[in-house]
Amino acid sequence: MFELIEDQITKFKKIVFVTGAGISQESGIPTFRGNDGLWRNYDAMKLATIDAFYDNPKLVWEWYNERRRNIFQAKPNSGHIAIAELEKYAEVVVLTQNIDGLHQKSGSSKVLELHGSIVKIKCSVCDYREEILTEITNLPPLCKCGNILRPDVVWFGESLPQDVWQNAMNFASKCDLMIIAGTSLVVSPANTLPIYAKQNNATLIEINPENTTMSGEMNLEIRKTSAESLPKLVSLFKNKL
Ligand code: NAD
Repeated sequence: MFELIEDQITKFKKIVFVTGAGISQESGIPTFRGNDGLWRNYDAMKLATIDAFYDNPKLVWEWYNERRRNIFQAKPNSGHIAIAELEKYAEVVVLTQNIDGLHQKSGSSKVLELHGSIVKIKCSVCDYREEILTEITNLPPLCKCGNILRPDVVWFGESLPQDVWQNAMNFASKCDLMIIAGTSLVVSPANTLPIYAKQNNATLIEINPENTTMSGEMNLEIRKTSAESLPKLVSLFKNKL
């Protein structure tokens, strides 16, 4: 599977993962663009916008409550666990588009959440932020300032937190191996991270059962699931170092 890079394994010291919804698919969390994309006849992608929230905050909160229930029950799969284990052999940073926290749950220590976190909520107007691990009730929830509280995630059309994005670009620009796992690479600006790595002559590996628009840029394409392939990659490091 990874024969093409087997001989080079020892040269990779700074590894960056760019992950997306596909890496958590084998933990039972549906992706956005897969067959599970529909929810109560609404397009899930159309619920993840500020316009949808202001049109119908209760509906968007019901959808987030359902996602929160699903995500809180989910356990890291062997793909997440393999990434955490790789820290024994190299410097590893995970740049994730996921909001599910499963990389941290599996033990990864350097995780940058590009799109926020589903456990966090924030005021749509003031600076109030909070972490809530239980069901959100009385929808939509209200802030002490009287405005509506919203999930602390980045919705389509919104900017990423600037400090997180700056750090992500820095790590991408300095890595020697970038592994892009479980993302369709259609969401900007996360989909530009492989370009920064390429400018540093990093080796790019894509792990995804399907092609993506950037597959042509990869040094190696693994058309398998992340839970199947990532433990094999880690065993290469284990055996060579
Ligand atoms: P996406 O739904 O656009 O793409 C998922 C990709 O994963 C697809 O290319 C698919 O072929 C691939 N895939 C499916 N199963 C896989 C598996 N088992 N192993 C490896 N790859 C697999 O998701 P995206 O690119 O992350 O972008 C969509 C946005 O959706 C992100 O902003 C993210 O925040 C959000 N999202 C997050 C979660 C989560 O936190 N788990 C879930 C749904 C959506």
